[in-house]
Amino acid sequence: PAGTPLRTAIVTGGAAGIGRQIAERLAADGHRVVCADVVQHDLPALDLAALPAEPGLVWMPLDVTDHAAVGAAFDAVAAATGSIDVLVNNAGIQRHRGIEDLSWDEWKAVVDVNLHGVFTCLQAAGRHMLAAGSGAIVNISSVSARGSAGRAPYSTTKAAVIGLTSTAGAEWAARGVRVNAVAPGYIDTGVFRQGVAAGTLKEETILARIPAGRLADASEIANAVSWLVSDQSQYVIGQTLYVDGGFIV
Ligand code: NAD
Repeated sequence: PAGTPLRTAIVTGGAAGIGRQIAERLAADGHRVVCADVVQHDLPALDLAALPAEPGLVWMPLDVTDHAAVGAAFDAVAAATGSIDVLVNNAGIQRHRGIEDLSWDEWKAVVDVNLHGVFTCLQAAGRHMLAAGSGAIVNISSVSARGSAGRAPYSTTKAAVIGLTSTAGAEWAARGVRVNAVAPGYIDTGVFRQGVAAGTLKEETILARIPAGRLADASEIANAVSWLVSDQSQYVIGQTLYVDGGFIV
């Protein structure tokens, strides 16, 4: 709305997939959205010397596993914009393999992005939010947090994110920084279709466990994030909101 100051949001992994849908939704809500991603896709690059004056999406190159780079990038965004109002920790990867066959490198790669990356970004953005006395963070977990055969590191890290979310929520609530999580169910994206094609996901088996009777649309995940970073959810702290059609584990 006219007269409302432009708020700055960072969405990790925001250049594609669910993160992109979240970024588009936050822009529609009036945010200047920095999509921090290893891949640029079709987004214009962020120029810190010429910040966008209107809500919209820009890309910032970032690997969330690079601890020093995350700190430097978030400091630079905060210095240029005056504040980081919103962080969505969305970047995430998977490795589909049984525990007995999983390599040590595969395990570490998933933990590095899905857990260490989330902690690094949460801490870096949280420090600026605490200094400002306000901010909202949403971490993207998954229904797989409750167990997902063939995806041990993914499931483990998504469960760990729930613990980090409730802990950060408790630590920071009194200082104006709210931390919550969204746990999406199965979404009809390329990732899901690839799993079906590879035989690691069976569509009819998954649908049988979803009382809503269908997969989710990424916009439904974005709606939940939009609400959790808005003033409408001020009394919601440290929660994980399952947006999963009632999925039965
Ligand atoms: P995706 O692979 O389509 O997109 C992920 C994005 O993250 C990509 O743009 C990628 O470039 C980026 N990324 C990967 N590693 C990165 C890194 N080290 N640093 C910065 N960016 C990086 O994935 P998606 O399906 O859109 O999933 C987004 C999030 O939602 C993930 O956390 C995922 O675990 C979660 N999730 C997805 C589903 C689903 O059904 N797709 C379900 C539940 C949860």
